Amino acid sequence: MSVMDIFETMEYGPAPESASPALTWIKERQPFGLFINNQWVQSASGQYLESINPATGKPLAQVASATSADVDTAVAAARTAFEMWSKLSGHVRARYLYALARQIQKHARLLAVLESLDNGKSIRETRDLDIPLVARHFYYHAGWAQLMASELSGYQSVGVVGQIIPWNFPLLMLAWKIAPALAMGNTVVLKPARYTPLTALKFAEIVQEIGLPPGVVNIVTGEAAQVGEALVRHPDVNKIAFTGSTQVGRSIRRATAGSGKKLSLELGGKSPFIVFDDADLDSVVEGVVDAIWFNQGQVCCAGSRLLVQENIEQVLLHKLRIRMEKLRLGDPLDKAVDMGAIVSSTQLQEIQRLVAQGVAEGAQMWQPSWTCPTEGSFFPPTLFTNVATANSIAQVEIFGPVIVTMIFRTPEEAVALANNTRYGLAASVWSDNINLALDIAPRIKAGSVWINCTNMFDASSGFGGYRESGFGREGGKEGLYEYVRPLWEAETSINSPEKILIPKDTAFVAEDNETSNNGTSSALPPIDRTPKLFIGGKQVRPDSGYSRDVYDGSGRRLGQVGEGTRKDIRNAVEAAHAAHGWSAGTAHNRAQILYYMAENLASREDEFAHRITQQTSCTHHDALEEVHVTLSRLFSYAAWTDKFEGVVHRPPMRGIVLAMPEPMGVMGIVCPDAYPLLGFISLIAPAIAMGNTVVVIPSQQSPLSATDCYQVFETSDLPAGVVNIVTGDRDALSQVLAEHDDVDAVWYFGSAEGSKQIELASAGNMKRTWVNNGFERNWLDTLQGEGQEFLREATQVKNIWVPYGE
Ligand code: NDP
Repeated sequence: MSVMDIFETMEYGPAPESASPALTWIKERQPFGLFINNQWVQSASGQYLESINPATGKPLAQVASATSADVDTAVAAARTAFEMWSKLSGHVRARYLYALARQIQKHARLLAVLESLDNGKSIRETRDLDIPLVARHFYYHAGWAQLMASELSGYQSVGVVGQIIPWNFPLLMLAWKIAPALAMGNTVVLKPARYTPLTALKFAEIVQEIGLPPGVVNIVTGEAAQVGEALVRHPDVNKIAFTGSTQVGRSIRRATAGSGKKLSLELGGKSPFIVFDDADLDSVVEGVVDAIWFNQGQVCCAGSRLLVQENIEQVLLHKLRIRMEKLRLGDPLDKAVDMGAIVSSTQLQEIQRLVAQGVAEGAQMWQPSWTCPTEGSFFPPTLFTNVATANSIAQVEIFGPVIVTMIFRTPEEAVALANNTRYGLAASVWSDNINLALDIAPRIKAGSVWINCTNMFDASSGFGGYRESGFGREGGKEGLYEYVRPLWEAETSINSPEKILIPKDTAFVAEDNETSNNGTSSALPPIDRTPKLFIGGKQVRPDSGYSRDVYDGSGRRLGQVGEGTRKDIRNAVEAAHAAHGWSAGTAHNRAQILYYMAENLASREDEFAHRITQQTSCTHHDALEEVHVTLSRLFSYAAWTDKFEGVVHRPPMRGIVLAMPEPMGVMGIVCPDAYPLLGFISLIAPAIAMGNTVVVIPSQQSPLSATDCYQVFETSDLPAGVVNIVTGDRDALSQVLAEHDDVDAVWYFGSAEGSKQIELASAGNMKRTWVNNGFERNWLDTLQGEGQEFLREATQVKNIWVPYGE
């Protein structure tokens, strides 16, 4: 096209970015080795993989294909480096992170071009979004390294972290993983995606350039079956951080179950883009372009479901089709191009398959009239209408430039439609009525909600999912907790519950007998009292019709409790769901009820202490101490209820982000055997303080302290269904909880094997789990037994982005 043609037609002319510096960089270095201990080394296999330019289908570079032996070498390097790196002062680590940020900026153009060549995304995006965000991530986390000692004083580094990243934002995902890990004193072995290793290799060069100590960052390229699986299973890796498909996330959850590895998973999505009839439709159209055609729709939080209020559907779709006709698709290195190439021919075929399935299922497809380049992997922007909620294109993550449209009439319907997905990563809400938008945002089950904007990211604001979109957050202060563990964990690996399971002393037996007679004649038989289950605020008989015996420390039968079954758990979960009004109520109200529980328990403290001594054979003095700590714990969580509130972030934009901790929903809680009252209250109090409703399996060995609480709950105005208690075989019942699709999170404080089974079973709906791997806490110790660690586990942060201005 000549300049004259452009002048006549007012069409865009080509604005190519030169690929030569990047191609020269590749040529001078390939074949690329593995980056271990700051050295480039050959893989043990001597094999290489080819990285392809998806815009041309031609090979770009050869990179080493590592084996599990290479992973061992890299993990060993990271382990050695960890000893030194974790002991450096935060300030020293901050200097390194700062240097990484600076160096990324200095190589910004090369990185942007390499990313476009390797991934197929447009240079406009890599230059203006990916790379600046990468630098911002390192700057932001340099700050947290500096502040770690003061702001995370009760925490220490986790150890060696295995990080597995996808191909859709190769360098950005690397930054999201490496920056917080390093800031918190961990060392890293990172596996880039097979399709897109090049910017990670350039990053390795930067690591060398800034003189980061050897072994702190290791980059191992290769295939999932070799490198990814070896990292996941490696016994000397302390944490896995993964971003990718829900299917692989689920397999990693299963593979790490019971290993004690920390795990964060950022998985797929099918995010709603909700448009109310008072929204500014021209802005909405640009929003849709950003939501689904940004990065060719290969974005985990892409707004792939357009939910439109019925009365504006036709006018919005008309505007959208006009805009789609104007979208420019082509050479990713052309600066005037909106959409580049799909990452690989395999991914292109998968998009084509799902689109064909949508058509076959009866949905109506619309694409612009222009055609895509025939060389390379390209797919046009695609709009589906006449879509039913059950259609596969409405439920499955397509991970391509394909949006499906559905209509709603009322805000209630919009929320129901938005939440009609197994995912929960993000959502956009468009309305000029800010009251309406701010009412809708908290009701959507998603980690990020963007109001009148979309696909906004910043290092200060955590990102991550609800439900099958995974768990854990990246970015923000909440993201740091993925890379630390409490200081006390190393100091006391096993806190034996022996302290309260001491042999029964004879003096106490006498006191016990007296008290149990309670002043009545020993000739009279006691009135039989068998605690039932506590479901929906009522004491109910177990479905099995069986009871189980409860014994004291010396093997004497103390009484019986109901033998709960799968059906009882199901009823309890239903009751917990029916009590959803608990989370909608005020924090002030929840605090009052927790104080009231303490008040009612205090009036019976001797009775509760006596029950503890009966079950555990501890002294009356120790039992009273347990009751007193329990009362203090209830006060602590009553105090926290209206103080664990979230923060307001100010990312670099005109607007704010409200980071709000939200309750998980319905939680399953499995209590430890030690400290039958304190262990029970220490777990349920933070959970209900944060607005969750709970199904609790109390101590199997000593359940009577929990069942004695029924009356405390009943007299403390605790609404029916907020706490439900099912006694019985702890591990069998907890398995049912972990498998239950309507349970949102499970806490388990039992055996190592039980912990493993919980993690395995939870992979079904990817519910968040918190297990103790068989290690007992000292519940009397406030550092171990209470605090923000519990509140964080009882909540998930939702980030609501609220821009300012017209
Ligand atoms: P995967 O989940 O397969 O890959 C993501 C990363 O995990 C890659 O580094 C991959 O390695 C690695 N990996 C794959 N299998 C294992 C395993 N068993 N153990 C350890 N690591 C493993 O995503 P795909 O690239 O196959 O894409 C498939 C679909 O996943 C997409 O269509 C999309 O729906 C979704 N996806 C979601 C992403 C998100 O951000 N949420 C990102 C990417 C994909 P390798 O590259 O060598 O295969």
